Amino acid sequence: MSSTSKPSTTARSRRAPRRGPFAATRYVASLPLVDVSELARAGVRLVLVDRDNTCVPRDTGHAPAEVRAWLDAARAAGLSVCLVSNNFHTAEVAASAADLGCAVVDHAMKPSPFALRRAMRAAGARADETVMIGDQVFTDVLAGNLAGARTILVRPQSPSDLWYTHLLRALERLVLRDVEFLGEEGAKTGTGLT
Ligand SMILES: [Mg+2]
Repeated sequence: MSSTSKPSTTARSRRAPRRGPFAATRYVASLPLVDVSELARAGVRLVLVDRDNTCVPRDTGHAPAEVRAWLDAARAAGLSVCLVSNNFHTAEVAASAADLGCAVVDHAMKPSPFALRRAMRAAGARADETVMIGDQVFTDVLAGNLAGARTILVRPQSPSDLWYTHLLRALERLVLRDVEFLGEEGAKTGTGLT
């Protein structure tokens, strides 16, 4: 028997990256903590970003300065940014897009991937050049995965959510029970966006 035995199945499974339709590529505490230069190095050209509770807190309705600064940094790094929102209040979503200087797709119907693909076509970006960033597993992450993009899940900016989102949050807690979010206390620093 070889002296260089393989690691145990348990050890391997602990190190194995999470995969599957509900698993994000990365978990980061908030949008402003996402490393823009890492996105660019990973070949990302298009950032699809959720609006409610990712860019715009549902309890205030105004994007904080850190989000604006992050969007400016993303554009300065040569990335295109498009809001992809399920919010049916078209005027509010359009106002946010104008305010933040982003392209927009509303009525996105995430987790359907079709709106994401439409945004990719409009920006001339392939799925492997695209990242979807949002605060919900069952809309943002699932839609990004179905579209073939990379995905980053962030924590919601506020505890304010639609009633059915509160129900989904309970399921999210199950999916996320072993997940560490970069930027939160005790989380290990991860690298790479593959
Ligand atoms: Mg959201």
